Amino acid sequence: MVPDPSVNEPLLRLPDGTVKQVNPLTGTQVWTVPGRADRPLPTPPGSDEPIDPALEGRYCAFCEKRYLDTTPEKARVIAENGGWHTLMGLTAEELDDTVAQFRLIPNLFEIVSVDYWRLNHGLEFSDLALARYAHYASTPGGRDHLAHLRTLRSGHQDPAYAVGSPERHRLVELGFFGGFHDVVVARRHYVDGATRQDQLASSCTLTPSEHREYIDFTVGAIEWMFEMNPLIRNVAAFQNWRSPAGASFDHLHKQVVGVDALGQRREEEIARLTRDPDLFQHAILDPVQEHRLHIAETDDAIAFVGIGHLYPSIEVWARRMEATPWELTPTELASWSDLLHAVHAATGSGVPTNEEWHYRPPQEQGRIPLRAVVKWRINTLAGFEGGTKIHINTIDPWTLRDRVARAMGQAGHEGRIAPTVRVLNSPS
Ligand SMILES: [Zn+2]
Repeated sequence: MVPDPSVNEPLLRLPDGTVKQVNPLTGTQVWTVPGRADRPLPTPPGSDEPIDPALEGRYCAFCEKRYLDTTPEKARVIAENGGWHTLMGLTAEELDDTVAQFRLIPNLFEIVSVDYWRLNHGLEFSDLALARYAHYASTPGGRDHLAHLRTLRSGHQDPAYAVGSPERHRLVELGFFGGFHDVVVARRHYVDGATRQDQLASSCTLTPSEHREYIDFTVGAIEWMFEMNPLIRNVAAFQNWRSPAGASFDHLHKQVVGVDALGQRREEEIARLTRDPDLFQHAILDPVQEHRLHIAETDDAIAFVGIGHLYPSIEVWARRMEATPWELTPTELASWSDLLHAVHAATGSGVPTNEEWHYRPPQEQGRIPLRAVVKWRINTLAGFEGGTKIHINTIDPWTLRDRVARAMGQAGHEGRIAPTVRVLNSPS
């Protein structure tokens, strides 16, 4: 009888070369079938078209000359005098006084809306939100910007917002200051000096130093949500890169979304942790070690091929498991950022990816590490998957390991990743 993988034996290679995996945490079943593995990665269409220079700085709503097409920003990071500085409380008139390297802005179209918190939970707007709204609406530019946003939003979603009462207008505008779905936007749409449309500024085109700031700013945004809204039990943090991965814009950004539930998967993990406090070591790290799936490490983080994901996936874990992301020391977080950046550098800008963060929410206990899962969205789920709940992954774990390690080694030789990164299992 053909053996099946299990939670205890999550990875099997059969005599014909078929690789069967089961995700040790979710139970997802994945097969890699010989002959389908290691096909070339797709290239997004239209990629070598020239960039229209007339659109410089305004290729999409996240670009730096379209600040007023996004919501009033909560904070921005600027580079000045050789350091990074965070600015808050800018008026609309002050937005162009500096260039934001990273911006934290509310999502114009939230997944979980302000009304969800207000009407279902009775959550009042905070004093901070009220004060920020009053400050922003105190200038003519701010009032014009808020009216413009109401129009933008009504055009897409809810016509009642555009024609509603003054009180309705006020609530909509206040929502831009009191919500819990934010976007962290990086400055560049294309890399500096780009001439072609495939020269998008992805995570891997940031310098390691810029990437550290991007990560640190995102962690701050997550922590802020937990502090501002005690009903939030989890803050989902993720980055969709390119439209096949769900991105609305080809402009680098992450999203942080506060939710009032942990979700079934996290609930199950926490239940298992009470029985096995070292669940993550036993369920994930031990099989990864056994099957030699490590790719690279830094002093405080490790990267390896994940087992049992729908898409070829690389996981980047902080070594210290007890800490929430903001409880990691700056050195530990930078070390994790360097390794995540190196995974993106090895992946390249052309591959659509989801970067999903997992970590221990502050209300929970136990050894749950900060980890990012970088998923390569290169296969399309189809009828076979829908009918069987068995997923066909096109690259087996060892091939993925070698491919990423080789590309990361190359990136290291070219000086594109932080010197803190050590590539393991590098194929010769
Ligand atoms: Zn853009």
